[in-house]
Amino acid sequence: MREILEYLRDLGFEDLYRSKVVPPSPSASPSPSASPRSRPAANESFPDRAEALSSLCEAVQGCERCELSRSRQKVVFGSGDGSADLMFIGEAPGAQEDRQGLPFVGPAGELLTRIIQAIDLRREDVYIANIVKCRPPGNRDPLPDEVASCRGYLEQQIALVQPRVIVALGKVAAQTLLGMDETLGRMRGRWYDVLDVPTRVTYHPAGVLRNSQWRRPVWKDMQVVRDKLKAGEGGD
Ligand code: URA
Repeated sequence: MREILEYLRDLGFEDLYRSKVVPPSPSASPSPSASPRSRPAANESFPDRAEALSSLCEAVQGCERCELSRSRQKVVFGSGDGSADLMFIGEAPGAQEDRQGLPFVGPAGELLTRIIQAIDLRREDVYIANIVKCRPPGNRDPLPDEVASCRGYLEQQIALVQPRVIVALGKVAAQTLLGMDETLGRMRGRWYDVLDVPTRVTYHPAGVLRNSQWRRPVWKDMQVVRDKLKAGEGGD
């Protein structure tokens, strides 16, 4: 637990465990790169990580680091198993997510649930988060400063959940996590390393709802992810 506290303190969350929201100073903000940093050890016990994740969630509820905090109804921190092997990262909450405070609860979320089930998992077995935690007005793409403001939260979620595989959903999530300015089509089809976690890119479920020709590539991507998870079973 001490290691987690030190890690969060490094990121500027000095008073996190006194349940106060203290926005990190700009100098303490995590860099926009996905480079590895000192973070909780892999063997840090799950109860401690779960507690840290829920403290972080509580702290983020009062976040006012960017303009999105002015128009949001609810912060959408993330949901699911805080020690999941598989973590999905989307772009930003939509209208329904903003109302409920939960990620992927609209039509795209229904499809995401089916995608998860297609690889023999349940939604509650995975962890789901977004690049930004508040809804951009009119569902526009998040602006670079909004992404940068939220980046530290996501990095901490990844460090605390310690997934074995990350799936980036859609171009915004992929470009942000990988630090690339490519089309989604060009980013698909290979493994990346995000904070030491093997990461795969696939089409966003909302895009798949509009373009049925993306169903097959998503299925192919998810089979690769399933194989990776299975290959690591039994201690890898
Ligand atoms: N789209 C996203 O990227 N995230 C959500 O939570 C909902 C829709």
